Amino acid sequence: MQYIELVNVYESLEKTTKRLEKTELLAEFFKKIPKNEAHELAYLVEGRIFPDWAENELGISSQLAIKSISKATGISEEHLVKEWRKIGDLGKVAEESTKVKKQQALFSGKLTTHKVIENLKKASELEGHGTVNRKVALVAELLTMAQPMEARYVIRTLLEELRIGVAEGTIRDAIVWACFGKEIGIKYNLENNDIDLDEEHRKVYDHYLSIVQEAYDRANDFGVVLDAAFKGASALKKIEIEAGKPVKVELCKKIDSIKEGFERVGKPADIELKYDGFRMLIHKTEDNQVIIYTRRLDNVTKQFPEVARYVKEHVHGKSFILDSEAVGFNPKTKKYKQFQDISQRIKRKYDIEKLEKELPVEVNIFDIIDYNGEDMIDKPLHERRKLLEKIVKPLKWKIKLAENIITGDEKEAEAFYKKALKDGMEGIVMKSINSSYQPGARVDTWVKFKPVQDPLDLVITGAEWGKGKRAGWFASFILSCRHEGKFLEIGKVGTGVKEKLDQGLSFEELTKLINPLIIKQDGRQVTVKPKIIVEVAYQEIQISPTYSSGYALRFPRLIQLREEKGLHDVYSLDEIKDFFKKQGSRKLMWEVG
Ligand code: AMP
Repeated sequence: MQYIELVNVYESLEKTTKRLEKTELLAEFFKKIPKNEAHELAYLVEGRIFPDWAENELGISSQLAIKSISKATGISEEHLVKEWRKIGDLGKVAEESTKVKKQQALFSGKLTTHKVIENLKKASELEGHGTVNRKVALVAELLTMAQPMEARYVIRTLLEELRIGVAEGTIRDAIVWACFGKEIGIKYNLENNDIDLDEEHRKVYDHYLSIVQEAYDRANDFGVVLDAAFKGASALKKIEIEAGKPVKVELCKKIDSIKEGFERVGKPADIELKYDGFRMLIHKTEDNQVIIYTRRLDNVTKQFPEVARYVKEHVHGKSFILDSEAVGFNPKTKKYKQFQDISQRIKRKYDIEKLEKELPVEVNIFDIIDYNGEDMIDKPLHERRKLLEKIVKPLKWKIKLAENIITGDEKEAEAFYKKALKDGMEGIVMKSINSSYQPGARVDTWVKFKPVQDPLDLVITGAEWGKGKRAGWFASFILSCRHEGKFLEIGKVGTGVKEKLDQGLSFEELTKLINPLIIKQDGRQVTVKPKIIVEVAYQEIQISPTYSSGYALRFPRLIQLREEKGLHDVYSLDEIKDFFKKQGSRKLMWEVG
């Protein structure tokens, strides 16, 4: 497909803020694309060139983008940087610079979507020293072939910052409209920003929505889903979970009391310890390979060789996918450690053996998603747990099942919870014993109960350069929550960040992380791509006109990076509103208790 056709759709999507209009635009686009290109085009619509779960990162910085624009247009890097500061969007800078050049050369190339993907893929595969020039050449080649508007989106795609406001849900809806719209009989009322559907058609619509959503939760890949959707509902249903391919994890809702927990999950409930570690999805494939993913679907197999050994030795089965929490412990005192004490094991790529001895982890398995090639997700939890009890040969401090009780008795649940806290756990998770496993969902069947005011997982979307002894570092950080595919500001934090590298999360480390993510500079302030997720404690949530979310945090304090979490895990505005409402009663609870 000609890139300009896609670019026209990008541009229309960028111009409207109405979700329904965006859905319609995308649906119309999907209807006319060549079916054999569906895969690649689905990625480009998301502003990617790889599927959601792929490990590959484009790894192209703003600096490299500037070099490429300069090479393609002959405009100096200094001038481009100046323009970038003024306009705040390198995509637009590329567009303007290409315009200037085009007037001289009157050149209009024929860029295809495939060529864009091909060059960007090649650029991302180049690693190490001396590859900068080759990367620049690949990007510059695209820019030379591009019309001005195409240049805007080439640059935005490679910076992974498309700015067309299309969230996962919009792509899902558009796939439903494009592929099943006729059966549903969708009539939309763009004026009211609503869909006109009678009850019967609404049911059909919801049915297809859930088929597409569930297919996506299993595949994590809109390329695969769009391909299958063109073939029909049965092809979507056939997309299977497969050991080796990452699956989204089920998430927990938060509750304020054990009573509320029972109301949500029913009685009796499966009540498990909430371990303070990190999520591990452990796959074993038929050829006896163990692959480990975090909840963000990052592959961390290399970092945890001991887990692969435990799984091979202690879990029976040709192939499977286990859901678990890995918790660190002190090898001498045999006491559990907090997540932050072992978080370095997730990122560290060297001295693995040494780290394995110093910071060992215990795997606590609580679910099974696939067993010997069979999907387990539709089986009730109690059956999945029974299967786990059969196939896992537990060994404390290595691998075992998460400790649990099954009860409908509030007193018994309370006693289990108190003991959990005494043993250093974060709290408990209550689960509905008859529930299926719902990848990617945060529903009422899994709820978590913790004693203290939970820190919030938020994403850094801006920062401010420091002064005085903090000159040269970013010293305060803008935090945002999630809302319909966008990020809304909720506060600014500088407290909790350490002065020195060895004291914990430092200004220096944060500055290093932020630098490549800058998309706009304005004096001392920068806007950054939402990527860095942090855990933030606070005293209270307040209503505030200062921030775009309408809320602010009182006394925020940065606790730690949550590198294993993804943008899905960032708290949503609805959750913040809920905490705001509930905080009155909770505050009273701690003051009393
Ligand atoms: P939070 O990170 O506060 O949203 O809590 C949910 C996380 O608790 C899950 O993603 C798991 O990593 C972790 N967790 C610890 N123990 C369990 C358990 N028994 N069942 C489910 N999740 C657990």
